[in-house]
Amino acid sequence: MLAAEGLGSDQPTKAAAIYPDEVAETYPEGAKYTIRVNAYERNTDARKKCLAHYGYRCAVCDFDFEHRYGQRGKEFIHVHHLVPVSSIGQAYEVDPIMDLRPVCPNCHAMLHRTNPPCGIDELAASLQESQGTSSDL
Ligand SMILES: [Zn+2]
Ligand SMILES: [Zn+2]
Repeated sequence: MLAAEGLGSDQPTKAAAIYPDEVAETYPEGAKYTIRVNAYERNTDARKKCLAHYGYRCAVCDFDFEHRYGQRGKEFIHVHHLVPVSSIGQAYEVDPIMDLRPVCPNCHAMLHRTNPPCGIDELAASLQESQGTSSDL
C-alpha cells in the first residue's frame, strides 16, 4: 500500500495550474515533427476569440483548410502565441487578438523550429523568398 501511495504522490502537484512558462508537447497524428506549444495556445477560450476575429486562414501562408479539403477541413487551424514566453510575468493575461494568430501546422512547426519562435512576418518573408526562387525554375 505504501508503494502505491508513493506512486500516486509522484504526480507533480503543479500540473493543474497554468504557469506562463509551461510548455507542453503535442504530437499531431502522422506528423514527423514535434510542435511545442505553450499554455496560451491550448487555452480554448482565447483560441475561439482569436479565430472569431481572424478566421481560419493561416496568418503566414494564407492556407485555408476548408478551401483545400472541403468539409473535413472546416474550422481546422492551429493558434500561435506571439509573445515570447520568457517575457511573460505572473499577471499576464493573453489578449486573443493582439497575442494570438491562426497558423497552419506546417507554418506553426517552422515558427517553433527556433526557441524563441521566429516572427510571423519573418517566416512569411522567407516563404515568399523561397517561393520566388522555386517558381524561377
Ligand atoms: Zn501556413
Ligand atoms: Zn506557436
